[in-house]
Amino acid sequence: MFKTCLSGLRNVSRRQQVLSAATARLQHTHTPVPSHRPETSSAKSLMDIGTRRIFNEDHDLFRQSVRRFFQDEVVPHHKEWEKAGQVSREVWEKAGEQGMLGVLIPEERGGIGGDLFSSAVINEEQMYSNCTGPGFCLHSDIVMPYVSNYGSKEQIERFIPEMTAGKCISAIAMTEPGAGSDLQGVRTNAKRDGSDWILNGNKVFITNGWMADLVVVVAVTNREAKSVAHGISLFLVENGTKGFQKGRKLEKIGLKAQDTAELFFEDVRLPGDAILGEPNKGFYYLMNELPQERLVIAVMALASCEFMFEETRNYVLQRKAFGKTISNLQTVQHKLAELKTEICVGRAFVDNCLQLHAERRLDPATASMAKYWASDLQNRVATQCLQLHGGWGYMWEYPIAKSFVDSRVQSIYGGTNEIMKELIARSIVSQK
Ligand SMILES: Cc1cc2nc3c(=O)[nH]c(=O)nc-3n(C[C@H](O)[C@H](O)[C@H](O)COP(=O)(O)OP(=O)(O)OC[C@H]3O[C@@H](n4cnc5c(N)ncnc54)[C@H](O)[C@@H]3O)c2cc1C
Repeated sequence: MFKTCLSGLRNVSRRQQVLSAATARLQHTHTPVPSHRPETSSAKSLMDIGTRRIFNEDHDLFRQSVRRFFQDEVVPHHKEWEKAGQVSREVWEKAGEQGMLGVLIPEERGGIGGDLFSSAVINEEQMYSNCTGPGFCLHSDIVMPYVSNYGSKEQIERFIPEMTAGKCISAIAMTEPGAGSDLQGVRTNAKRDGSDWILNGNKVFITNGWMADLVVVVAVTNREAKSVAHGISLFLVENGTKGFQKGRKLEKIGLKAQDTAELFFEDVRLPGDAILGEPNKGFYYLMNELPQERLVIAVMALASCEFMFEETRNYVLQRKAFGKTISNLQTVQHKLAELKTEICVGRAFVDNCLQLHAERRLDPATASMAKYWASDLQNRVATQCLQLHGGWGYMWEYPIAKSFVDSRVQSIYGGTNEIMKELIARSIVSQK
């Protein structure tokens, strides 16, 4: 017992050391960007460290440590996690120790207090590792901002430090079997009972759903509102709350190591302070936060394109057919030229969106353009890179096969690409 306590203490102080080192490093990433950095188009590899104007040397150092983390702590376990349909709790805590969770959340609220570019580094490096299991980005860049931006002081103090440490895994539950694109079709509802709320309903396709300790649940709280959008609230529901059940881990064609689950709420009694922000303001909060979710998807899509391109370049440089490597064939060379050009064009737009969002100038329609265009590009690149691998590309043991199936969902979640076009179109016709 004494020994366990001591080693626990040692871990805590080690964690604090690493965290403060990471925090200090990330907080100094706002320095002016030197202009000598090559853009991806002129870099040797599309995944090179030390490139792109939006980053600086501190981001490069951080990127090195994040790259090492994925190589050491994620890649060796991913196959086993794919079989299990989930990652380990340990990897969440290790990511927390490394200062890789809650990077965007201000330090005074229990986060790391880093900048947007540092969080992009983590998301990009995850795609460069081709390991989609850990749902870090959803936790850090999508769920944590809800708690940090709309939570009460008590909610922030209670959850954010644990989330930053990887001890409280989070999810957000909007989608229902009958309501995905159209959030106005949400049936999950919460009714007042004295100062408590009683929550009923079910959700589907929830990322991190099986492992989640905390779920932000979207529920209708005012059926009489002039539209459903005016009667939606967000609730913080903790794992273990009576009446809250997790269904099975859903069997997906890709993202095999990610624990996407169904969630059920049956007469779940929630205290009055489980509501996030104000009652009936949920839709407004969602609309505020969705552009960041869309940008994150675009960032990951572009990084995945870069990974797939480099993987394919390596493959065609060693694969032989008709007595020479297939990289000598002009059709293959032209295909690579087209792919690289398209990826670099996409890279310029997504980096520009990152820059805009860092300056709080990214509007929802532009974020939708990034999500739709980058995820469509990812799917085109996946198809063409797999084709360049021939039959081997169809084999699970080849990384491109995994990238191919993992790409498919990117144009579906975070709002389908058809919905992105709706949002872009609305902004076009309403501008005149
Ligand atoms: C792996 C995975 C993880 C997910 N993670 C989460 C999560 O963590 N939390 C969460 O809440 N949800 C999550 N989702 C749900 C995801 O956001 C929804 O699947 C998505 O929004 C689409 O909703 P739907 O599946 O109900 O499709 P539907 O809305 O039924 O759409 C079906 C088709 O109709 C099209 N369509 C619908 N409306 C329109 C329109 N107005 N104009 C043009 N076309 C339209 C769609 O584009 C689509 O092609 C996840 C889904 C997957 C597959």
